[in-house]
Amino acid sequence: QVKQNGRHGCLLYQPQYQHQQVSALEMETAIRQGLQQDQFELYYQPQVDPVAQRVVGLEALIRWNHPQQGLLNPSLFIPVAEQSSLICELGQWAVDRACRDARLLEERSLTGLKIAVNVSIQQFERPSFAKNVLESVSLHGLESNHLEIEITESNIMKNMDRGANLLTSLAEHGIGVAIDDFGTGYSSLSYLQTLPVSKVKIDRSFICNLSGEKNGLPIVIAVLNLAAALNIHCVAEGVENEQQKQILQDAGCRLIQGFYYSSPLSFAQLIPYLKQSKNGRLIHQEQMR
Ligand code: C2E
Ligand code: MG
Ligand code: MG
Ligand code: MG
Repeated sequence: QVKQNGRHGCLLYQPQYQHQQVSALEMETAIRQGLQQDQFELYYQPQVDPVAQRVVGLEALIRWNHPQQGLLNPSLFIPVAEQSSLICELGQWAVDRACRDARLLEERSLTGLKIAVNVSIQQFERPSFAKNVLESVSLHGLESNHLEIEITESNIMKNMDRGANLLTSLAEHGIGVAIDDFGTGYSSLSYLQTLPVSKVKIDRSFICNLSGEKNGLPIVIAVLNLAAALNIHCVAEGVENEQQKQILQDAGCRLIQGFYYSSPLSFAQLIPYLKQSKNGRLIHQEQMR
């Protein structure tokens, strides 16, 4: 049984209350072992231009192929990894794997896609972060403008000075910077002007209020206008149905991510999805349900 528990993170086995700390430690050991034994995998969720009906980007989302528990979502192990330097190892593994997979896609003529990788604060605060990212990019022979780093708005706010230096050095190398969960960080907007942000991702919480009694549309329109004025791309996250997609498309949103088009796909599932999209036959997962 999987259980979430606050500060000590997530435990795979429902423990006795007094054993919680031990279990977090056990899990760190298991994660470390999982890294050595290649148990982690990246899934990719398409970002779609709804007008052109084309996939233009992918977000890499980590999964753990646990030998006993099966495929685990990040909420079950990222919080534990974030309590130690393990998150940096896991995060760097993800950057490297994403670069490798991006290169594999290019070799299959599935070109022109931007691949986004999520990065935790500890990882991006490390002095070696930018260097490690650039090394992965060049190791796999990827063009750096095909890689994008996603950082949550609240994490950027925690260390603005570091954020500014780091993002500038990434941007100078052509690596995109996307602000994840945009609109949930209770932050001022001025950083959008001072930092080299290339994309904002409107948080799912705004998207699920688009239809229904809470009318979320004015906020979404405001964000789209803001992004356009600042020449920043804008993705709507967590788009689950045709109605939400249509509202966003009508409001001028040119990038849609969510279950409506596709849930995150394994690399093997991704290839046929991208091939069909390239041939102008985009599948809508919602229509298959
Ligand atoms: P995120 O970056 O905000 O990713 C979006 C999450 O929303 C993903 O959950 C995705 O599967 C889910 N999602 C996508 N479309 C929909 C939709 O239409 N409806 C709903 N309800 N959900 C949708 P996932 O894959 O479980 O990832 C959760 C979080 O874990 C991510 O949030 C990200 O913060 C973190 N994460 C994932 N991979 C990595 C990684 O490699 N490194 C780090 N540091 N964090 C990661
Ligand atoms: Mg993300
Ligand atoms: Mg997000
Ligand atoms: Mg999120």
